Amino acid sequence: MTVHQTLKNAPSLDAFWMPFTANRQFKAKPRLLASAKGMYYRTDDGREVLDGCAGLWCVNAGHGRQEIAEAVGRQVSELDFAPTFQMAHPLAFRLAERLTEIAPKGLDRIFFTNSGSESVDTALKIAFAYHRVRGEGQRTKLIGREKGYHGVGFGGISVGGLVNNRRMFPTLQADHLPHTLDIARNAFSKGTPPHGLELADSLEGLLNLHGPETVAAVIVEPVAGSAGVIPAPEGYLQKLRATCDKYGVLLIFDEVITGFGRLGQPFAAQYFGVTPDLMTTAKGITNGNLPMGAVFARREIHDTFMTGPETAIELFHGYTYSAHPVACAAALATLDIYKKEALLTRAADLAPTYEAAVHGMKGLPNVIDIRNLGLMAAVELRPREGAPGARGYEAMVKAFESGLLVRLTGDTLAFSPPLIVSEAEIDRMFSMMGDILKGVA
Ligand code: PLP
Repeated sequence: MTVHQTLKNAPSLDAFWMPFTANRQFKAKPRLLASAKGMYYRTDDGREVLDGCAGLWCVNAGHGRQEIAEAVGRQVSELDFAPTFQMAHPLAFRLAERLTEIAPKGLDRIFFTNSGSESVDTALKIAFAYHRVRGEGQRTKLIGREKGYHGVGFGGISVGGLVNNRRMFPTLQADHLPHTLDIARNAFSKGTPPHGLELADSLEGLLNLHGPETVAAVIVEPVAGSAGVIPAPEGYLQKLRATCDKYGVLLIFDEVITGFGRLGQPFAAQYFGVTPDLMTTAKGITNGNLPMGAVFARREIHDTFMTGPETAIELFHGYTYSAHPVACAAALATLDIYKKEALLTRAADLAPTYEAAVHGMKGLPNVIDIRNLGLMAAVELRPREGAPGARGYEAMVKAFESGLLVRLTGDTLAFSPPLIVSEAEIDRMFSMMGDILKGVA
């Protein structure tokens, strides 16, 4: 039995089958976070850890926000649960309306889910159903992108492009655009990379290969997050938009990470000036405090469903916890904080400092690329011969032991602090990381 010694009444670590984790490696030497406030976690043995990744790209307003805690507490006492199938409660409507105030123009119909994965599968199902309602039920194929991450539902892994997430499971009919990570041409470029616009041309090729009339939707992250912060090249998203329009294919932006202020606008769609037909969100919607997601749909897509008999259910889809009242309360309190503290645009002010600080690691041992946009950044390390991921893992563990939480994918370290981060904390984050990298052979 694996027991963690530093906790009082320490639980056995055996029963929890951890997600996306090397369970045996972790349980042999666990890293336990016991509390959090503002920019910092505290470990079970009392060490302070600077949160360099907003938990898991979600705690945008920082930890331990009293306003959210109080709203959640009040809501549990007042209305702990109410169904939203053939019934509803006022907060669901209030939250949907509030979200339309910050949404990209035209995306003003909101479907609630409980996670990013559910948002993605919901958006894909809406896309299929939309075409079917319009008499184009032959559009049953999807296009994602290599290195894309769209959660772990069957739809999400089908359009996703991270091979380990796909190889064990059957998938839907989907093809993939080439990824846009081009270290040879774009290494150490700042912000949107200059090279790679031509990669968007592949969409036309893929559509013609499959027959454009058979494709329902294209889904991309405006900045690939989980694959290691890969911003779309200059003009790339505009090109995808134009091609989708040309062939009547829906364009979906997966904004589970980029949504709620990460790039200095409420959503990446606004940052890039490209409006998708559907937009998937989660994480920052409740400051990561409760599970919730939302799909934003173009009004015309929603209205297309509102045409049959008024007594007929228009979309046979939903979750017991769609618009859960307690999650709605958390989301409303979160939106209040974002507004009061202007957090959804704060990343724009901090981005130059952030960019300069992260690129300050250029030239450190084994650093082969640095990428950034808004308050997202990644440092890519050269993999060790025959041991991909080992160098990155060592850097991540050393960072944690020195008091800095960073996110790791392979040999890529990702940084996405809460949007309340100060300039001094940005400097501290990257100078700590720099010191660590000097000690990782
Ligand atoms: N889509 C993107 C772009 C993500 O980054 C993630 C999670 O990181 C997801 C979907 C899945 O979200 P969840 O883990 O909440 O299901």
